[in-house]
Amino acid sequence: MEGPVLPERARQAGKLNHTMQSFGVVVVGAGNAGLCAALAARESCAGVLVLEAAPEAERGGNSRFTAGAMRVAYRGVEDLKALMPDLSEAEIARTDFGTYTEADFLDDLERITESRSDPDLAELLVKRSFDTLRWMKGKGVRFAPMYGRQAFKVGERMRFWGGLVVEASGGGPGLVDSLIGAAQRDGIEIWYGARAIRLIADDQGVHGVAVRRSGKSIEVPARAVVLASGGFEANAEWRTRYLGPGWDLAKVRGSRFNTGTGIAMALEIGASPYGNWSGCHAVGWDRNAPEFGDLSVGDGFQKHSYPFGIMVNAFGKRFVDEGADFRNYTYAKYGRVILAQPQQFAWQIFDSKVTHLLRDEYRIRQATKVRADTPEDLASKLDDVDAAAFLREVATYNAAVRKDIAFDPTALDGRCTEGLAINKSNWANTIDTPPFEAFAVTCGITFTFGGLRIDTDAAVQSIDGEPIPGLFAAGELVGGLFYFNYPGGSGLTSGAVFGRIAGTSAAAARNAA
Ligand SMILES: Cc1cc2nc3c(=O)[nH]c(=O)nc-3n(C[C@H](O)[C@H](O)[C@H](O)COP(=O)(O)OP(=O)(O)OC[C@H]3O[C@@H](n4cnc5c(N)ncnc54)[C@H](O)[C@@H]3O)c2cc1C
Repeated sequence: MEGPVLPERARQAGKLNHTMQSFGVVVVGAGNAGLCAALAARESCAGVLVLEAAPEAERGGNSRFTAGAMRVAYRGVEDLKALMPDLSEAEIARTDFGTYTEADFLDDLERITESRSDPDLAELLVKRSFDTLRWMKGKGVRFAPMYGRQAFKVGERMRFWGGLVVEASGGGPGLVDSLIGAAQRDGIEIWYGARAIRLIADDQGVHGVAVRRSGKSIEVPARAVVLASGGFEANAEWRTRYLGPGWDLAKVRGSRFNTGTGIAMALEIGASPYGNWSGCHAVGWDRNAPEFGDLSVGDGFQKHSYPFGIMVNAFGKRFVDEGADFRNYTYAKYGRVILAQPQQFAWQIFDSKVTHLLRDEYRIRQATKVRADTPEDLASKLDDVDAAAFLREVATYNAAVRKDIAFDPTALDGRCTEGLAINKSNWANTIDTPPFEAFAVTCGITFTFGGLRIDTDAAVQSIDGEPIPGLFAAGELVGGLFYFNYPGGSGLTSGAVFGRIAGTSAAAARNAA
């Protein structure tokens, strides 16, 4: 097979100036995707190295910031027991887990991405999801049912909703600790504070990685390289360049290290860009959260219970259908809508009829929150909002609620408003019962959707449509799966599925070399 055409600079870089110990497979990035790739590569290849730009204290990338929610296809409780053997008979008896078939998962991906998701990648993600989680379990990752965030009590039983049932025990930190523990047991080397800066490549493909470590630039030869270094969400300049004006003003929910270097390194040697480069996952996030994620708060700055209330902007106006769908299917696109509001903020408003339904993140000490006993008092406490317009908006909204339809938080209940410029489609409750609570949010970017083109072996494709020998990719920096929006819990599953494939392919390429 003929290799891709490579730029002159990269061709010249093929000469190793500082030859070090040689590795079979080098993985760039120690998040969920990179660690799954390293573990899979290690199954058939000695000499696996993981390069991680962050210091050890900040290890784990965006994966560590997550709740550990993982979307997986399952046929029923027997499948779930295979992933969660600790599931007790009492839990099974009191829970309606339902099913989430491969067809359901594919339908969700297709609907949420407006049929743009690459069919081959989407099929792999869905069809390998269950088997990959079982493989992770075999590596020491423990899973648990997501009672706290994805189930409601209906009568005496807990009922799951939105196709999302499984989380890694200990959330993102637990997941990362388990994967790193497995990597250490398998003798995989991890270098922290080691930023990959360039691929060493020539006409025959990729032969290693140039790395900046402890203030020195070194070159690490390898038979195959897996890029798993995340998207470009932490790079304000790239955000503005690709997502558009205003995105420099978004807060970053997770790692400050995902600056797009891996993508840039691959493009530089002729890799093909792919997917929704102007799109990203972005949510409602505390207005006063810091510039980047804070590991001590994790994902606690998110505010995802808006389907049970309303959101208003600086004009005191609603601007989006808060109840268009289950939270899982709208939260990832509403950050963009909030960013587009004047001064890039909104207030989420709830009354006491629903405050017991608010997720845990509403109870953190750092929440930007106000409480009031009358609508007028509430209006006066909403910073930067036109109070009179807000009171008119609430009155108009309350009058439009279809009170004859029963409220049911576990289903698309159809309890809507009628006659408003922007109607609420489900879970429309009047806002009239004190105390009232309001939370200020802005846009928090989670990860970017555009990235590199891979094939079904996770081999990075060149702009000429050929696999670049020795180069594989997985996780956030892969383009083509997510467009406009994203079904919650798919990011970790995608990193695991494609990480495992990339690691296996890289080891095979190394063994064939
Ligand atoms: C707050 C928050 C909550 C989330 N919740 C969920 C959830 O519950 N479920 C879900 O499925 N998804 C969730 N996501 C999305 C999820 O985090 C990502 O989809 C997933 O973790 C991406 O995994 P990854 O391995 O590709 O990237 P990461 O986990 O970000 O790993 C990339 C790693 O590469 C390193 N790196 C970057 N550049 C270099 C370089 N040049 N050299 C060496 N290393 C480099 C980074 O430091 C980082 O450690 C959430 C994200 C955030 C921010």
